[in-house]
Amino acid sequence: MHLSTDSLDTFLGSQWVLWFDIDGTLVDSAGAGRRALMSALKNVFGLTSPQCIPLHGRTDCGIFQDLCRINQVSWSTESRALLEAEYLRCLPRELAYDSGRILPGVLELLQKLTDSPHCRLGLLTGNIPPAAKLKLQAHVLWDFFEFGVFGDASPDRLDLAPLALEKASSTLGLKPSADRVIVIGDTIDDIRLAQMMGVRSIAVCTGGGHRRELAAQGPHFIFDDLSDTELILKILNCPDDGA
Ligand SMILES: [Mg+2]
Repeated sequence: MHLSTDSLDTFLGSQWVLWFDIDGTLVDSAGAGRRALMSALKNVFGLTSPQCIPLHGRTDCGIFQDLCRINQVSWSTESRALLEAEYLRCLPRELAYDSGRILPGVLELLQKLTDSPHCRLGLLTGNIPPAAKLKLQAHVLWDFFEFGVFGDASPDRLDLAPLALEKASSTLGLKPSADRVIVIGDTIDDIRLAQMMGVRSIAVCTGGGHRRELAAQGPHFIFDDLSDTELILKILNCPDDGA
């Protein structure tokens, strides 16, 4: 089938790009990531009781850096590489011990969205790519996603905004219309990312964040969880045909 440039643009312009955060949005990994990080710090640097830091909403790259700083380990390319490799070695064991759960409504929503020819699903997460894959594969969710922007790109999560815009454009072959892009996440930084990208956001309260604090950041929508599939599809103007 031949499409003229105009009709191709019209066709692709009708698509939605949905960016999903992972931890606290798609899955609750029951602390597997934290346990793997603490084991990695002990194994690599010989720390007996390493201190941890708040992990929510951060990139792994920033977390590695701050964990070294707070535990008085000198930060270098080598220390980062060692910590990252050991973290990825420990994570499968911790996920096998307890991988947690898929959060309410997520599986049905992803199934519905991937059934729709209008939706392209991406990951916009602070996890480094192998950790994202391990956490989602533990719940058979990895294959729902077509592309991603990950936490290896910068210590600062907000630096992911321009990368996500570039990735969406390169994946679709044109710049998606801003009103057809949504970031879905559980932290203030997910909402801020959407604001920096100039797109809409859905905040969910499944990651332990307080609804009032999330609401104060001004997301376009805020839900207790993602279980109201019909309402979310209505937001996207996708027909929910009950298939
Ligand atoms: Mg999160």
